[in-house]
Amino acid sequence: MTENVVVLGAGYAGAGTIKSLEDELNGEVDVDVTWISETDYHLVLHESHRCIRDPSVQEKIAIPVHEIKQPSTAFIQDEVVDIDTDAQEIALAESDTVEYDYLLVGLGSQTAFFGIDGLKEHALTLKSLDDALEIHDNIQQAAREASTNDPAQVVIGGAGLSGIQTAGEVAEFRDEHNAPIDIHLVEGLDQVLPNSDPELQGALRKRLEAAGVNIKCGEFIGEVDEETVYIGDEDELDYEVLVWTGGITGRDCMQDVDLDKDERNHRVHAEGNFQTDDERVFAIGDSALIDQPGDQPAPPTAQAAWQAAEVAGENLARAVRGQPLKTWTHKDKGTVVSVGEKAVAHDVMNMPIETFGGLPAKLLKKAIAARWINDVTGVGRAAKAWPDM
Ligand SMILES: Cc1cc2nc3c(=O)[nH]c(=O)nc-3n(C[C@H](O)[C@H](O)[C@H](O)COP(=O)(O)OP(=O)(O)OC[C@H]3O[C@@H](n4cnc5c(N)ncnc54)[C@H](O)[C@@H]3O)c2cc1C
Repeated sequence: MTENVVVLGAGYAGAGTIKSLEDELNGEVDVDVTWISETDYHLVLHESHRCIRDPSVQEKIAIPVHEIKQPSTAFIQDEVVDIDTDAQEIALAESDTVEYDYLLVGLGSQTAFFGIDGLKEHALTLKSLDDALEIHDNIQQAAREASTNDPAQVVIGGAGLSGIQTAGEVAEFRDEHNAPIDIHLVEGLDQVLPNSDPELQGALRKRLEAAGVNIKCGEFIGEVDEETVYIGDEDELDYEVLVWTGGITGRDCMQDVDLDKDERNHRVHAEGNFQTDDERVFAIGDSALIDQPGDQPAPPTAQAAWQAAEVAGENLARAVRGQPLKTWTHKDKGTVVSVGEKAVAHDVMNMPIETFGGLPAKLLKKAIAARWINDVTGVGRAAKAWPDM
């Protein structure tokens, strides 16, 4: 009997799983693979901030799915609106329902607004290519309407990986276009890149400040209206462009799905082998909270999704064949963060110095993106992307 394996999402989780599943199946005839995502391209999301400076980078980081999958894998471009785990069916916005025998959820995450008054209404977000292009357009427009005496105020809320890298690209845009822009990076916790090593935090702060980014840490954004961001009890910043990168939550379409999930953020609980409480449904990437040794789940990073996907495809094939599943453990290979043209690397495997910048960090940042693009497509696309990463 032919088994239907369905993979949802074309991010690191989905694209990576398709690659490893196809490799593992190696043309096995009694398995049909269907890949479903709302865009017909894979977005290298961890480099999407580059499009804020230069929209033409989209050609390098939006990779058509037909360049990734094998012809035997069916692709449906549509939005997943629900999953019925009893009927083993996926409901789509436009197309007919899709049935599955085994399913992998790799739908990523969406921006969390934490109920902050006015934030959702007024802030731009960065979770897709369209988001990045919208931020570019807004910044360009605000700069056109500003002057040296009255510069455009760009406020970025949340100094995690997305916020820091966004601030770096806005600074590059400002410098390349000699644009009158003030940049403010606001973080509620005590330092940029909260919960990371102090040496890394210090190195990032130094480069952000050198790029002319005003950093405000230690007070949370409490309210936003159409002109002003209110911070803590006393502070406020007027803005022309507000970008919110302060947190993630599970996708809305997962909210009512009958799987064991975190109550607040509806990210799906999964074992180390990616199986959820329904043995036919697997979940990885930002959509999932994957059990790991210790008390923390795997982190919501491209690095973790990429690593997990390499094993997830194999486990789907093993499930189909009734073989035992492999258990995955996340290996932290360190952190590399760009601040515009510069970068900082920390705790990168086998490097004798813990935290470093300069050309080695910049090359490492490029190499990570190029390696991923090479893994999912080939060396030609990776080489094309290299100058813009
Ligand atoms: C600006 C930025 C910089 C980052 N920098 C880094 C970094 O330096 N290092 C790092 O490790 N991580 C970084 N991250 C985090 C990293 O990008 C995410 O952790 C990673 O993308 C998660 O992979 P994923 O496949 O789970 O989700 P995604 O990459 O978000 O993919 C989800 C996929 O599902 C599709 N989808 C979503 N909802 C639906 C639906 N309802 N129906 C159909 N399709 C749907 C999406 O279109 C997409 O194809 C960064 C993120 C951002 C935004």
